[in-house]
Amino acid sequence: RDLYNAEAQILEALPRMIRRTAHADLKRGFQEHYQQTEQQLHRLEEIGNMLGQDLRGHTCKGMKGLIAEGEEAMKEFTDSDVLDAALIGAAQRVEHYEMAGYGCARTYANLLGLADQATILQRTLDEEGETDKRLTELAETVINIDALK
Ligand code: FE
Ligand code: FE
Repeated sequence: RDLYNAEAQILEALPRMIRRTAHADLKRGFQEHYQQTEQQLHRLEEIGNMLGQDLRGHTCKGMKGLIAEGEEAMKEFTDSDVLDAALIGAAQRVEHYEMAGYGCARTYANLLGLADQATILQRTLDEEGETDKRLTELAETVINIDALK
């Protein structure tokens, strides 16, 4: 339920981040991750259905805080290159938080003998990891360098 609400919050926040970045690669990266996040939310719904659990009605306070920090950065930085660097920093915090949550959930699923659910969770975990790596590459090769100027 926590992951489900976290993904839902990300779906709400990403369009603002997409609007705020002028960097084509970063914009595309966020757009792609938006599509991915829709699928990730759907996968959790699938797991909820498999287990007969309603995932709605819970708030992930951690994600709420991370998104609030991202919003703060969007207010604070007016230089677009510096803002892009800050947006990546915010997005990577989100990815790492998700990776921790999905890693735990995957391990619990395995221990509970829920191999199918563990496989589904692992797929999302891999996607979050790839997104994080892509953000690192973008930051280290272009965006952080531009922000320095
Ligand atoms: Fe996600
Ligand atoms: Fe993510």
